[in-house]
Amino acid sequence: LACLDTLGINTLKQGDTFFSVLTGNTKSLGKGSVFSAHSPIDGAKLSTFNNATPAQLEAVNAELKDAFKVLRTIPAPRRGELVRRIGDEARKYKHELAQVISLEAGKILPEALGEVQEWIDVCDFAVGQSRMLHGLSIVSERPGHRMMEQWHPLGPVAVITAFNFPMAVWAWNTMLGLVCGDPVLLKPSEKAPLCALAMYQIAQNVIADMPDIPKAAVSVMIGDRELGEAIAASETFPLVSATGSTVMGRAVAKTVAGRLGRSLLELGGNNAMIVSKTADLDLALRAIVFSAAGTAGQRCTTLRRLITHESVVDGLVASLAKSYGSLRVGNPLVDGNLVGPLIDERSFDTMQAALKTAQQQGGEIICGGERVTEGVPAGGFYVKPAIVRIAHDAPIVHEETFAPIMYVLTYSTFEEAIEIQNEVPQGLSSAVFTESMREAELFMAPAGSDCGIANVNIGTSGAEIGGAFGGEKDTGGGRESGSDAWRNYMRRTTNTVNYGGDLPLAQGIVFE
Ligand code: NAD
Repeated sequence: LACLDTLGINTLKQGDTFFSVLTGNTKSLGKGSVFSAHSPIDGAKLSTFNNATPAQLEAVNAELKDAFKVLRTIPAPRRGELVRRIGDEARKYKHELAQVISLEAGKILPEALGEVQEWIDVCDFAVGQSRMLHGLSIVSERPGHRMMEQWHPLGPVAVITAFNFPMAVWAWNTMLGLVCGDPVLLKPSEKAPLCALAMYQIAQNVIADMPDIPKAAVSVMIGDRELGEAIAASETFPLVSATGSTVMGRAVAKTVAGRLGRSLLELGGNNAMIVSKTADLDLALRAIVFSAAGTAGQRCTTLRRLITHESVVDGLVASLAKSYGSLRVGNPLVDGNLVGPLIDERSFDTMQAALKTAQQQGGEIICGGERVTEGVPAGGFYVKPAIVRIAHDAPIVHEETFAPIMYVLTYSTFEEAIEIQNEVPQGLSSAVFTESMREAELFMAPAGSDCGIANVNIGTSGAEIGGAFGGEKDTGGGRESGSDAWRNYMRRTTNTVNYGGDLPLAQGIVFE
């Protein structure tokens, strides 16, 4: 746990209880019930907090509104400088930050390092964006007039995150939110609160050297669902960015829409890969194993459905079963292990229930699914990733089970494969392995994959920050990170300027 000392997280507490309200100006304990977070590695207690309450949110909201008044007038490139320095600080402590992710989320260290790298990358991206918050100039239909668009800071942004990407999702939202001029309040998953304190500390180290930046620009409140609900309901936040299950997203969307706020939703996936009869099967095999078993199946983009041409399915399943047999399951901090633990016992139970249901619905477990207890730390829930052959329309296949279960389905025509790919409620990530240009293009065309992410000859997981990330249907429709996702964090004004001496009306209307 030396990483907690190095990062200064251990200073953020009173006695044994960590602070739950951190705005830079204020650091205080929560006033709600006590809870502890445990490491999925061995079940050991990592931290104790009191939930921050909705009443405490009121005081924080006032600080956020004051911070916004200052931040919105600071030139965007200066806000970019803030983010540049945060990126440098994250580089400096990359290893320690990754260790905190592994401890709380159970990711293997190479993947945790990748997650911190994602934070660093989005900083670089946001720094560049801070000089490119461009609007359009538009020709006017009226003589002596000019039109233009400007993008202005939006207001305090709330970010609610899931356990499985405790740093990257915050970073996508916060680094862009800051360059756009918005203070950001994070409510992290109750399962990964120390990651939130680590990120807070990194940002506050930087803000301490930039007296023009309001401290509350990077704030954190640790709390449960009740706090999340209060945040969604609060008029302070013109934008609530929420990542997690579809059930959570529906609740947040309803509340935020009720007050006509904006929500940016990144919810569950049920990601598929089509393996065509023309596919490069060696390449596909490697992509499948990482996408399906990596992060112990706990990525929103994890490969859950393998839609395989009937002529290649048997050979592919045999090769996959062999590869799965050599996957090293164990302590995520130990070099060489590729599959860490599930987040908790509940997740293990859900996986077992899904496997049972799959069997009842006609599925055959090809390999995996069982708990691993030897050679792994006691107290953690380690499993062998599972492969199940089953019909594409078995109801369980249409649900997201957040664990390493890959369903293998078959198809005969490519059009049928696309139909199977699109028949689930979720629409996050998808992929095709094919050497046929026609299949690849059809997959990406309007009648192809209906997902936010449609890849050719790479797996479903492991997106780069430069693209817009997110998905359709039950995945919530939000887009974060690269491309033009910065616009989420700004408001647009259309300005029409009359530099002539007359007052012509639009559409030629005469009013005199
Ligand atoms: P979860 O829905 O249980 O919790 C996510 C967050 O929402 C937590 O901070 C929680 O406290 C909060 N929350 C729960 N109910 C709420 C409510 N009614 N109002 C406000 N806040 C509420 O999710 P989880 O188990 O932490 O994460 C796994 C899920 O997240 C999976 O479904 C996964 O696919 C999804 N996910 C999606 C993306 C994406 O980008 N699409 C990324 C990561 C995870």
